[in-house]
Order: sequence, then C-alpha cells, then structure tokens
Amino acid sequence: MEKHIVLLPGDGIGPEVTKAAKKVLQAVADRYQHSFTFESHDIGGVAIDQQGTPLPEDTVKAAKKADAIFLGAVGGPKWDQLPGHMRPEKGLLGIRKQLGLFANLRPVKAFPQLLHASPLKQEVVAASDLLIVRELTGGLYFGQPSERRNGGKEVVDTLAYERSEIERIVDQAFKSARVRRKQLTSVDKANVLESSRMWREVVEEKSKEYPDVLVEHMLVDAAAMKLVTNPAYFDVLVTENMFGDILSDEASVLTGSLGMLPSASLNEHGVGLYEPVHGSAPDIAGQNKANPLASILSVAMMLKHSFGMEEEAEQVEAAVHEVLDEGYHTSDIDLVGGIQVSGSGLATKVVDQIST
Ligand code: ATP
Ligand code: MG
Repeated sequence: MEKHIVLLPGDGIGPEVTKAAKKVLQAVADRYQHSFTFESHDIGGVAIDQQGTPLPEDTVKAAKKADAIFLGAVGGPKWDQLPGHMRPEKGLLGIRKQLGLFANLRPVKAFPQLLHASPLKQEVVAASDLLIVRELTGGLYFGQPSERRNGGKEVVDTLAYERSEIERIVDQAFKSARVRRKQLTSVDKANVLESSRMWREVVEEKSKEYPDVLVEHMLVDAAAMKLVTNPAYFDVLVTENMFGDILSDEASVLTGSLGMLPSASLNEHGVGLYEPVHGSAPDIAGQNKANPLASILSVAMMLKHSFGMEEEAEQVEAAVHEVLDEGYHTSDIDLVGGIQVSGSGLATKVVDQIST
C-alpha cells in the first residue's frame, strides 16, 4: 500500500521521538513491502521561531492532504512569556480544531515487564487495561472569551459544548466499548456543572442505541481515586476535554512512565493524528534520553486505525514487548536488573525486532 505521512516533530523531545516513529514506519514498510512517503512541517515553538506563527498555513494544508499525521510535542520555557494567542500550544489546539479531531483515544495497559516500575502495588496495576476517550475540540480549551477583566482583578474561562459535540464523542466511546469489554464509564461533574448534566442526558439517550454496552456515570473526583485504587475496574472511560487531560496523565502511572502512553486523535472521516501522550519534556530535551515507546506505540495505532494494517500494528506491539522482555529501557523507567539504553538505542532495538 502507498501512504503519505506528515510529520510534525515540534519542540523539546518532539524531534527525537518523531525520528524513532519514522524509523519504525520505515521498518514496517520494508518488511511488508508498503511504500510510505514522509513530509515534515513546523508546528509550535519551532514554527514561531521560523515563521512567526505556531501554526503555519502550509502545515495545515499538508496535514489536510495526508493519509495520517504524526506529531511529536510542542512547547517549552523559551516561549512561556509570549501572549496566549502566540503560545506553541495554540499550534496543537489549532490543528486539532482545523482537522476536526474531536476524538482522542488513549489506551492504558499495564506492561507485565514494568509492573514494579509503577509506584502502585503490582497486584493493583497488573490487571489494568482501559481506554480513555477524551473530547478534544471543545470545553475549557476553546472557551470564548478567555480573558482578564476589570483591570486584571477578574478572569473568565468558559466551558461550552454543543449537544452535537457531546453526541459524537459519546457515540465514538460506545463504538469503542462495543469492541472491548462492553463497559462504559462516563465521567463528569454533574453535581456542579450544567455541561455535565447535559453530558449525562446524551449518554442516557445514546445508550438506547447500544443496549449491549453496560453504562454508568461517575463523578470525576471519584474516577480519579478509582483509577489508582482499582484501575482494573474500568474498560472504556469517556469524558470532556480537561477531565480527560488530567485523568490520562494520572493513568500513565499504571504503565510506569508517561513515556509509554500512545494516543490517536480522529475526526469524522477517520483521518488521524497520532502522538505520544507526554509533552515536550524540556528537562530532558537534546540528551537522547526520551523514551520513544509512546511514539512507537502511536505508530501502531496509526497502522491499525488509519491504514487498516492490523498485522503490521501487532508486529510493532510485539516488537515493543520483546524489547521490554529482554530488559531494555530508558532512564524514565526505574527497573531493577534492566539494561538502560538511550532513546535512539531503544528505538533501534525495536526496529531490529521488526526487521528480523
Ligand atoms: P504538556 O504540558 O505538554 O502536557 P507536561 O507538563 O505533561 O507537558 P511533559 O513534558 O510530558 O510534561 O513531562 C512531564 C515529565 O515526564 C518530565 O519530567 C519529563 O521529563 C517526563 N517525560 C515525559 N515524556 C517523557 C519521555 N518520552 N521519556 C522520558 N521522560 C518523559
Ligand atoms: Mg501533560
């Protein structure tokens, strides 16, 4: 198959992990005789430096024509003093919005090889296998107006959702639950927020179309607690943008490191942007320490969701497991008896597994 992939490396460790993702895609293409072509564009801080805007027009144009998009990460202390509309993060929010990437899928599964790298008890973490479905183009991140008023003494952020925006993300979550263990937990704050009460109504309504899926509602504070006391309780969680952001960083402790979590962001036409859940990690950027596995697992999601390449995706996941079985890991993972390697070193190990 021929596929055209747009790479948006971005800032911090973004370029390092994007390099790893590209190497793995190339290894898959070689092994399965596909032809993958690549095109790189600026986004985030690097785009501000080079082109004066966090989201250049040619980046959007290229992304719209791609079969799939891989993104590294954006942001860093260098750009922290810029005004809100000029922040690197605006590049990421902008591309999500412009491509209509409303559904963010974040699978979280404990790796048996890394159980004691988690600060939680092994027996608590071991059985966790969940999917967070996060709404990505609405809520507080896109509230209007977001501003300082009254001479700086008052501040306003708004949490707005159209009913249709809730319907489409909830529908995606039911679809995901249907191909998993058929349990959906809808997470909200309905005792406080009107948006959450509408969210509950929509979930109740949608559930009639999916009678085979068991649904429950859970308040976000309770869900936050349960994620670390009994993560195996969950199958699919669906929630609004901000709650999903917070819960997925929390859930990353189940895997031992933020550097292990992949994600896919999909729109109505199934076009996908794939990125690691972690950010630009300025504290370790440029040191070849970044764990590339979140990005490599995001590549597996790309192969499956955007290209329908199930076997290839499984091959990539199997390669990651084999490398972990052999004890290799980067420095973010605290593994007694393991073999610590650099970020590019770990990516090479995965590539070698795919190629042999
Ligand atoms: P953002 O605001 O972009 O979501 P963040 O505040 O969540 O970013 P990250 O940049 O993800 O922060 O980093 C959080 C911590 O996790 C940092 O200490 C960073 O070094 C570490 N970290 C993140 N990703 C990786 C990775 N791939 N490999 C190793 N360590 C990582
Ligand atoms: Mg974060």
